[in-house]
Amino acid sequence: MRKPVIIGNWKMNKSLDDAKLLIKNISSENLDINVEKVVCVPFVYVTEVKKLLEETDIGLGVQNMYFENSGAFTGEISPMMLKSCGVSYVILGHSERRTIFKETDEMINKKVKSALQNDLIPILCCGETLEERNSKVEKEIVEKQIRSALDGIDKNDIEKVIIAYEPIWAIGTGLTASSDDAEDMIKFIRNILNDIYGYLSQKVRIQYGGSVKPNNIKELMGKENVDGALVGGACLESTSFCALVNYNL
Ligand code: PEP
Repeated sequence: MRKPVIIGNWKMNKSLDDAKLLIKNISSENLDINVEKVVCVPFVYVTEVKKLLEETDIGLGVQNMYFENSGAFTGEISPMMLKSCGVSYVILGHSERRTIFKETDEMINKKVKSALQNDLIPILCCGETLEERNSKVEKEIVEKQIRSALDGIDKNDIEKVIIAYEPIWAIGTGLTASSDDAEDMIKFIRNILNDIYGYLSQKVRIQYGGSVKPNNIKELMGKENVDGALVGGACLESTSFCALVNYNL
């Protein structure tokens, strides 16, 4: 049984006061204990949010990191630093990092390896553009992203990785992949994992991301291979984030 996991990606939103208020509101709700829940906050709020999350079962994550642990890398944040601040999860290879900040498959692979070496849980994002889907190459694209990102990742580590399939055309647009399309791609990703890691593929959690809202989560989560959601817009309000976590109640 794979434990469902709902992860909020705050992106570059909220002042410190608003961030603290959101965490207080989320943590005062009764949240389903059978669902793993994580907030991925901006780096600068990590320490404050960590304090507020004590005594809760809400995990703390961030949205990116560099792959080296220290050195002359002005402006970067390392896995060792994150670990020392109590961070447990890190989103890697989000489409906004790939497109706006030109992150390559090679860099993402280094980051996944480095996160695992530093005992952080990588949330590895993949997904195609609308043009790629319209040209019917979406599976080819996603397969390349997955195989490159996991190149050299040991079978003993693969269970720790969370994969998020996020079609780029569905992120922040209000367009959602149909639950059948999401299931189809996620099953395809699991088959790639099966090819590399055999039966361990059944243990890896694969999320869907792209305009997930309280009104569509139940249908998505009803699919056999969909193990959770990576959520942008709907995680910025406590009511919608809590409704997503409690999709099954
Ligand atoms: C995301 O940022 O990963 C995302 C899925 O955003 P949204 O839910 O707003 O589409």
